[in-house]
Amino acid sequence: MPKGQVRGCLVRGYNYNMKGNFPIEKFGNIETPFYYYDAEVLQQSLDAICGEMAKHKNYHLHYAIKANANPKVLKRIQAAGLGVDCVSGGEIQAALNAGFAPEKIVYAGVGKADWEINLGLEAGIFCFNVESEPELQIINELAGQKGKTARVCFRINPNVGAHTHANITTGLAENKFGIAMEDMELAIREAQELPNIEFIGLHFHIGSQILEMGDFEALCGRVNELLERLAKQGISVENINVGGGLGINYDNPDGAPVPNFKAYFETYANGIKLADNQHLHFELGRAVVGQMGSLITRVLYVKKCHIKQFAIVDAGMSDLIRPALYEAHHTIQNLSSDEAEETYDVVGPICESSDVFGKDEKLPACHRGDFIALRSAGAYGEIMASQYNCRKLPKGIMSDEL
Ligand SMILES: *Cc1c(COP(=O)(O)O)cnc(C)c1O
Repeated sequence: MPKGQVRGCLVRGYNYNMKGNFPIEKFGNIETPFYYYDAEVLQQSLDAICGEMAKHKNYHLHYAIKANANPKVLKRIQAAGLGVDCVSGGEIQAALNAGFAPEKIVYAGVGKADWEINLGLEAGIFCFNVESEPELQIINELAGQKGKTARVCFRINPNVGAHTHANITTGLAENKFGIAMEDMELAIREAQELPNIEFIGLHFHIGSQILEMGDFEALCGRVNELLERLAKQGISVENINVGGGLGINYDNPDGAPVPNFKAYFETYANGIKLADNQHLHFELGRAVVGQMGSLITRVLYVKKCHIKQFAIVDAGMSDLIRPALYEAHHTIQNLSSDEAEETYDVVGPICESSDVFGKDEKLPACHRGDFIALRSAGAYGEIMASQYNCRKLPKGIMSDEL
């Protein structure tokens, strides 16, 4: 792919070819599998986000740290000025360790344990995104014990569907997340009466890997409806948090290294008219870090059967679980071979039939030792790795540290 303008994104000084931009001459001494993070792609995404957000008043982005909590990645996101969205005490701690200001941390989750709430209170995070009435009571009680006031937003289940995999929709009435719209006023009134709670806004999140702006438009419609309903009762809402969910192009990582943040923020700018004192918060995860990452693995064996051939690689579902968990597909490339293409099932070494990265993949002829890249693996990759089969956890390596 030539240098210059690619789908509205400037590719700076980059010589992208069909195989992305991998310094494989430097990979020889690194133990595979490992995650390779392209610092340039991360920085392009951060620049695009900051540039687009600056066009809209009172917009705030809290990076969803659950997508990738590698300290080297967090450092760069923190340096760009973003906040953090956490879903556990461990994530709050990781965010604090990476130097994020507590005033930029928001914390959601249906099952916050006491120690996690206490950690948030001690740190003085911006707000708790509360998902049930019993949780509100406990936060009030724990805040009281510390003589503190907890700022809370209510996570409302907007009953808005998203065109994505069933396992990653979160905004339908049947999902476990959030408070039902019918119970919104009740929760707000209760919050206003509790001594150690300050109600500061509403929170939503409809799902992940969403590529249709219409889904976000539908959320905007619902948000407006709820804000109007509250305004009629004299309840003003200072903070509106619309969650994350913007998807990435898994089929064409080099053609679309930076997601269309412009269209994303404009969708919200057109959909929600903020009053002067209102703030709009976002919680993008995948879109920030997805395209910078590749899982680099080596071919161990090429196994030919009567009907198929397998490229057996040294990475497995313990390193990258998305294909096994969500039927996700990551673009697969052989970085070491430019021979004629053959057809392979690319599989890992784990003792599970779902340990398959791709079926009937056309790849340049594979040989033992070839480097294979599983692209678009910067989000929900390294962070979801496990030690299943007593395997080592893969390391994450930044391109500019090689
Ligand atoms: C997972 C999650 C996000 C981020 O989702 P992405 O699809 O990675 O943008 C944002 N907010 C909440 C509450 C989440 O659970």
